[in-house]
Amino acid sequence: MTSMLNKFLFFKYHLSILIICFLCFSFNNKNAKTGKLYKKEISSETFNVIRDAENIYSIVSPSFGLPTPENKGWNSNVHFIVTKSGVLLFDTGSSESIGYKIKRTIASVTSLPVRWVVNSHSHADHWLGNAAFADTTTEIITSKHALTEMKKNGNDDITFYNKVTKGKIGSTRLVFPSSIINNNLKRNFDGIEVEFILTEENHSAGDIIMWLPNHKVVFGGDILSSDWMPVITDDVNIPSLINTLNSIVELNPTKVLTGHGNATTVKSIVRDINLLSSVWKQVKLDSENGSKPEETLLKIKAELEPQYKLLYKNYTTEIERFINLMYSLQN
Ligand SMILES: [Zn+2]
Repeated sequence: MTSMLNKFLFFKYHLSILIICFLCFSFNNKNAKTGKLYKKEISSETFNVIRDAENIYSIVSPSFGLPTPENKGWNSNVHFIVTKSGVLLFDTGSSESIGYKIKRTIASVTSLPVRWVVNSHSHADHWLGNAAFADTTTEIITSKHALTEMKKNGNDDITFYNKVTKGKIGSTRLVFPSSIINNNLKRNFDGIEVEFILTEENHSAGDIIMWLPNHKVVFGGDILSSDWMPVITDDVNIPSLINTLNSIVELNPTKVLTGHGNATTVKSIVRDINLLSSVWKQVKLDSENGSKPEETLLKIKAELEPQYKLLYKNYTTEIERFINLMYSLQN
């Protein structure tokens, strides 16, 4: 029994050394492969980090959909860029506590402070973490329309998120962006060239897409998607969304970062354009001929399902909603 215990302790000791060496190696390896786990969650205090490109990192939530008690409200991604003097953070998560966890995670990668925050849009899972970065020296950036929506819905969003997570999300102070951009804008963040692309009625009112021309990385927020169907809401204008997606394809990004799901490539954007165009065309035609959404659903099921069912995790559950929504947009 004792010898078994000794063997076990001996094994455990060496395993710890092995893990420590591995962690030291991965933490110090500046040339770590992109797309691979860069820093693993070492305690419940931080999230996993993925390295996307030089100085660009992502914290990807495994959850999709609403905040729940199980995911404690953590259902969206954030991305960050380390510049010479500080960090530019894209989105801040669904609550103040998640924001703090993001802050600690960033601190495990760099000792530089978060100097700039961009809120991609007004949906609560992308900006309620702002409070963790509310510092007089931190500039929080969004679009005019997004700010209007945040002010309108912020308090209700906190109440709703508390309800659906059964309080697991904790309390959140509302911190609104202080820096508003009204048009497409190019800006240099201490050596990192950034282009802000403003959109309207693509996913919500006033989403910002961020493009790094030198890195060829696009930060799509909820306009770009990887594993799931495009996140369209009643605010969507389908032809405008398709135009936006086409303009992003023309930029020829090598890496596509999304608000939910794993990083992807331009192939996903092309897939989304094809799906949206096909369904929109069919709905338009059928609606003009006086058909009903159920009839269109049958046609789409026969013609598109074999192609798209495998390309999206939620094709089967979402396609009917897409058709109904597109019908409602015809008039
Ligand atoms: Zn959203």
